[in-house]
Amino acid sequence: MRAPAGGSCSRKLEGMPELPEVETIARGLDQRVAGDVVESVWLGEKPEPLKSPAREIASMLERARIARVRRVGKHIVFDLECANRNSRKSSRIRGQWIVHLGMTGRLLVASPEVEIARHTHAVLKLASGRELRFVDPRRFGRLAVVRIESESAVGFVAPGDEPLDSQIERFLTLFSGRKTPIKSALLNQKLLSGVGNIYADESLFRAGIRPRRRAASLTGEQLRRLHGAVQEVLLEAIKLGGSSVSDYVDAEGREGFFQLQHRVYGREGEPCLVCGASIKRVIIAGRSSHYCPHCQK
Ligand SMILES: [Zn+2]
Repeated sequence: MRAPAGGSCSRKLEGMPELPEVETIARGLDQRVAGDVVESVWLGEKPEPLKSPAREIASMLERARIARVRRVGKHIVFDLECANRNSRKSSRIRGQWIVHLGMTGRLLVASPEVEIARHTHAVLKLASGRELRFVDPRRFGRLAVVRIESESAVGFVAPGDEPLDSQIERFLTLFSGRKTPIKSALLNQKLLSGVGNIYADESLFRAGIRPRRRAASLTGEQLRRLHGAVQEVLLEAIKLGGSSVSDYVDAEGREGFFQLQHRVYGREGEPCLVCGASIKRVIIAGRSSHYCPHCQK
């Protein structure tokens, strides 16, 4: 594990987990808890993390088998089956547990001897003897459940398109003609789900586009480059994150994401890694945007 070395490497400085981190966490949880059965659920007293009533969350989770854990947008989705298959003949899937990590939320797989951390808001006791715990000091994270009534129900969907599945034609339709700055459009979760500030800046740098450019002013070629850059940046980050799964979800709560070296994000005043010009920072729609005034037009 690479030690968090401050600057652009430290996860703690970056705020909320973005899509690649959530993907990494979801994959790690899937490896660890898929197939396990929830025996009982404890939920804390604090109301903020509970987006569904506590009773509904508990009744959905208790005696459910975790079929799969996956990422949808920036949410972690646990697909739940009836643990006792005879209880419902037609439908094995009974619902979903949806976790949004917010700023500081973490899901830990722990053995019961490990002391319960402060700010633990949920503990799921698993049939394997382990516990799945949700810890969130700042309480921006959210827990919810979605009931699935039939096999054809889709369950939880993110508001916008999945950026890694987005086809070029669809991407062009979403972005061309918009009067907002391209940076704001990339952050608009109704268009693409899960692209946050860091990866928006990095994608625009790779595509050679200034964050303030109106989306409508971009050529088809520029939008094609951006489409490729968004996927490339996210996939690279997921690839790096994959090697640190065990660090993130272990019981000690160690944090150890390997991160992309940011080329512009958080590097105001530092030299561009391509041309040496000083990286600039501007505020667009209330968010910091970083760009190279020479490489990005
Ligand atoms: Zn440059």
